[in-house]
Amino acid sequence: MGTIISLTLFQNRPQVVTTVYQYLVDAEKKFSANNDNSEIMRINQSAGIRPVSVSPAVFDLIKRAVMYSKKFPNSFNVAIGPLVKLWDIGFSGQRVPSATEIRQKLKAVAITGIELNESQLQVYLKYPGMAIDLGAIAKGYFADQIAFQLKRWGIKDAIIDLGGNVVTLGHNQLAKNSDWQIGIQDPKKTRGEILGKVQLPACSAVTSGIGERNFKVRDKFYHHIISPRTGYPVENDVAQVTIFSPSSIQGEVLATVAFFAGITAGQQLVKQMPNVAAIFVTRAGEIKLTSDLNFKKIA
Ligand code: FAD
Repeated sequence: MGTIISLTLFQNRPQVVTTVYQYLVDAEKKFSANNDNSEIMRINQSAGIRPVSVSPAVFDLIKRAVMYSKKFPNSFNVAIGPLVKLWDIGFSGQRVPSATEIRQKLKAVAITGIELNESQLQVYLKYPGMAIDLGAIAKGYFADQIAFQLKRWGIKDAIIDLGGNVVTLGHNQLAKNSDWQIGIQDPKKTRGEILGKVQLPACSAVTSGIGERNFKVRDKFYHHIISPRTGYPVENDVAQVTIFSPSSIQGEVLATVAFFAGITAGQQLVKQMPNVAAIFVTRAGEIKLTSDLNFKKIA
């Protein structure tokens, strides 16, 4: 998935690790927008041609992603694929497209163009050139599924880390007070360099930001979170937002939506949600918390 994934258990259960690994290998094969043989690519290649039968998991995630896209029409959009591919940020083809190219692709991101047939488990993209991209939601879905399975297998305490999408389960066996410490990435520094840490009971922590997938052309900065209204990377005062929530899929979607909302409206949005909290980092490097979170800044 273009990232580093880790699973930490506090029991010697190698079979569990192997099974989770196999689940993720299988998930990447089905859900990737970068692999020609995935179910997602079959849907995208059949846009404007025919409906495609998919596995129950792929149908389930697309259905949820469409629901969120309709709920947050100006920000989260699972049909954003044509624009993501056009900019290709984080890949070797990354470039600033022309305004004409962007205008053309904007026509292909209408969420109403996704037709779901639940009884047949079929997905149809009505217009040629449409493409589904699950990059902003899939890892949250996978993390929730893994957490669910771990609990079923009797694993009480664990850390699931899908490239920065973190879910903690149970209690921290390495600390006396048993809450988990989660580091918050510094968006201006390389992965792993944190600007502080929170201390919380088990939860999901998901981050969206401009720090990793980005490039500069003539001093203009471009990043990978693309507006479905303008076709350009979102330009506002947010460098990064981390959402703490009970479910990771909810955290994934909220991270994107709160990113689009900006620092002030994003904080208000999160404060209205029960059992959800956030840490925003502004482009100027300020840290804004929606609640205490036992946050400790690294000097
Ligand atoms: P988030 O902020 O959570 O999401 C940003 C991503 O969401 C963007 O990169 C884009 O894909 C999409 N997006 C942009 N704008 C919007 C919008 N308005 N609404 C909805 N979505 C939007 N990366 C690789 O480099 N190589 C791979 O081989 C690879 N394979 C993958 C396979 C799978 C199954 C998945 C799910 C992802 C894969 N990725 C791959 C992508 C990578 O893992 C991350 O998904 C990507 O880096 C963004 O994740 P994030 O959590 O950093 O950002």
